[in-house]
Amino acid sequence: MSTQPRPAVLPSAEDLAARAERAARACGVDLDAHRGEREGRSPVNGATISTLAWSEAADVREAVARAQEAFRTWRSVPAPARGAVVKRFGELLAEHKDDLATLVSLEAGKITSEARGEVQEMIDICDFAVGLSRQLYGRTMPSERPGHRLMETWHPLGVVGVVSAFNFPVAVWSWNTAVALVCGDPVVWKPSEKTPLCALAANALLLRALTEAGHDAALSQVLLGGPEVGEALVADAGIALLSATGSTRMGRQVGPVVAERFGRSLLELGGNNAAVVAPSADLDLTTRGIVFAAAGTAGQRCTTMRRVIAHTSVVDEVTERVAAAYRQLPVGDPTAEGTLVGPLLDRRSYEAFTDAIAKAQAAGGEVVAGGGRELADEAEDAYYVRPTVIRMPSQSEVMHSETFAPILYVVSYDDLAEAIELNNAVPQGLSSSIFTQDQAEAELFCSPEGSDCGIVNVNIGTSGAEIGGAFGGEKETGGGRESGSDAWRAYMRRATNTINFSGELPLAQGVTFDV
Ligand code: NAD
Repeated sequence: MSTQPRPAVLPSAEDLAARAERAARACGVDLDAHRGEREGRSPVNGATISTLAWSEAADVREAVARAQEAFRTWRSVPAPARGAVVKRFGELLAEHKDDLATLVSLEAGKITSEARGEVQEMIDICDFAVGLSRQLYGRTMPSERPGHRLMETWHPLGVVGVVSAFNFPVAVWSWNTAVALVCGDPVVWKPSEKTPLCALAANALLLRALTEAGHDAALSQVLLGGPEVGEALVADAGIALLSATGSTRMGRQVGPVVAERFGRSLLELGGNNAAVVAPSADLDLTTRGIVFAAAGTAGQRCTTMRRVIAHTSVVDEVTERVAAAYRQLPVGDPTAEGTLVGPLLDRRSYEAFTDAIAKAQAAGGEVVAGGGRELADEAEDAYYVRPTVIRMPSQSEVMHSETFAPILYVVSYDDLAEAIELNNAVPQGLSSSIFTQDQAEAELFCSPEGSDCGIVNVNIGTSGAEIGGAFGGEKETGGGRESGSDAWRAYMRRATNTINFSGELPLAQGVTFDV
């Protein structure tokens, strides 16, 4: 167990509520219009910081119908003009970066720097989408028939439903929305019930960009509420693409419902990400890479590093270096300067943390750093834990599931094939890393015989992806891809056009059918 410095006192309930209100109003949220019965809690100190009205499942149909109506006009607005709205949205995000980041910290518990990073990611995806609005390219293929042209065109798909998780309360929506809008699709968003102010604030900024340019506000709608509102959205046949980010448990429920109605789904689900540390790894860089990926966001990222698979020649040193760094990490108020580890979301997250540690110990694991709760005296309903390193005798059952908390399991390996097998041995397939100076090892890890994940990194941790690449993972992570590269194709429908300018009617494959 660690000897931590005494943590600072947490901010008062009144202080947090006032900060939340100021930030939401600054983004243009009419709080009075949204006032209701549902209390929103801050993980920073457990205090209520919002009291808002939630939608009901019955409201979903009407919202989707409004979006479908808005689609009829929006699909014909030229894509670069749609991009201009997203450009303005990006400017407003930059202007209100601190306001939105404050809400991310207060509702999701992210430290200020990561909360600002999340908003920066929104700005970045707006930039990307603006460029994309002039690059929604289709291909032209040579026709086998004379006097014919064969080509693909990409058209707006329809209404996109977005269901999002608490831990990226605004960025994930913006990855979907910036791209969906330039692709010609309206969005109906069911954000996490844990982060309603973030959702209202982000959407208020987009509504400003839309209405300033004279577009329909129904192009971007938010439905606050719990899973039942999400379920209604998922089941609504008016949702052409359902993009759901959250736990694998949620994806297991959502996927079949969308498939049943032949809708399109894009699933971004749980991760269980590992780093392989090879004998040649630069251990300074490796330690920093591991600590950020494993302890950052208090272990509450889908890409959080949860397993280290280190060569037997370096496993002791890597474990001790990471444990030493963990003992020093400043845990506390995420909005205070210098804090690197904020709170867990809630009591359930804390219970999952203690439960996983107990299971790991029962499987022979040794807690090398962390393992306990901090700041408990100051705030009963706030759950701060010291990031935890557990040395495991071998990969065991507890390491196969995602515990959304900062627990890092360390196992050893003898040869790289074994390390890759351990990396791939879990049901999830989101992110992975190898730390090595040996190019052949790095190449093997990135090859078809290497990591089976959607994200495969070399000499960098598992988290902190850039928006330019397609983001997502395989297996129980759901297989969806969002954000950059050609992920936009999921938001459009493809038409293959054959245009005959020959004046004859030759059939393909030499078929004759003379009448
Ligand atoms: P969660 O699954 O509890 O909730 C996510 C969202 O789904 C919420 O808005 C919730 O209301 C909604 N929901 C739950 N059940 C539903 C149902 N049956 N139908 C429709 N909607 C439903 O997840 P969480 O605790 O908010 O977030 C943490 C999880 O999200 C982790 O597993 C993490 O790995 C995952 N995540 C994945 C990615 C990714 O890109 N792969 C990104 C962020 C978070």
